[in-house]
Amino acid sequence: MSSDRPSPQLELAVGDITLEQVDAIVNAANETLLGGGGVDGAIHRAAGPELLEHCRILGGCPTGQAKVTPGFRLVARWVIHTVGPIWHGGDRGESELLASCYRESLARADEVDARSVAFPAISTGVYGYPIAPATQIAVETVRSTPTTVELVRFVCFNDEALSAYEAALAD
Ligand code: ADP
Repeated sequence: MSSDRPSPQLELAVGDITLEQVDAIVNAANETLLGGGGVDGAIHRAAGPELLEHCRILGGCPTGQAKVTPGFRLVARWVIHTVGPIWHGGDRGESELLASCYRESLARADEVDARSVAFPAISTGVYGYPIAPATQIAVETVRSTPTTVELVRFVCFNDEALSAYEAALAD
């Protein structure tokens, strides 16, 4: 890693990502980018209907990739929509696809000059990725990806996620 691009500072937060006061929040979306449940539904409700209108023109997003939109009514100026892998037991490239979500999200953040980014635990809800390996990948990938982002906050929606991130950060 080059010395002019140090690793971002990593923090944990507990609660609802839509309230995060950061430049960009990451959405764990699905390939349609047309909204869903979980964190995706919460972000669309908080951002307002303009977000869905904007997402319609993006034409979806492949698993492991990321696309950026404005945050509309959110505090965050940007939403980075990434599509995590559905967990099928671990032998269908899930770990590489999940790492790609973090790398690609940071790349989009760099493109819009976002210096603070909040991530949910991508794929660990409806998509079924076990929380411990998912949080290890999140932490390892953010630590090893060159970026101009200065602060990454991992937002934990429950105690299990918080414990998993604490363990991953201690590694
Ligand atoms: P996926 O389909 O990628 O699994 P989910 O939205 O079902 O996406 O879950 C991803 C993670 O986001 C889960 O750990 C879930 O507990 C968490 N989550 C759900 N709602 C919120 C929210 N409002 N803020 C932060 N995290 C959330």
